[in-house]
Amino acid sequence: MFCKNCGSNISDDAVFCPNCGTQVGEGQSQPQAAPVAENKPNNNTAKPQTSNAVGLVGFILSMVSVLFWIIGLIASSGLLFIVSLMLGIGAIVCSAIGMNTASKQNAPFRGLSISGLVVGIVVVAISIILFIIGLAALSVMF
Ligand SMILES: [Zn+2]
Repeated sequence: MFCKNCGSNISDDAVFCPNCGTQVGEGQSQPQAAPVAENKPNNNTAKPQTSNAVGLVGFILSMVSVLFWIIGLIASSGLLFIVSLMLGIGAIVCSAIGMNTASKQNAPFRGLSISGLVVGIVVVAISIILFIIGLAALSVMF
């Protein structure tokens, strides 16, 4: 066949004219198609992320509860244990909400929320056990 642009004689299965570069056949691989397809995943990852402040607060609360627990242990302060227990319960609640938000709405801090939940449960569990042991010790003494 002949090129419709420059008129040079080219092979029938040619997609582009070797002389002038004009597209003469209907090629299956169009160079312009590939970059458009590559842009699509970028648009998907650019979804607006939901903030997850509750999950972060839960993690911070769990860390603070551990801190109060350690200080309470060193100072042998029952009051600090109670503060630590309250913070631990707050950490469990906030972390559970944060974990739920993270998994349902693709929000950040999923790992932090899980950590906060685990630490909160451990602090509360140990505090309750120590509280029961403390009560038992008191009942033995008096
Ligand atoms: Zn040509």
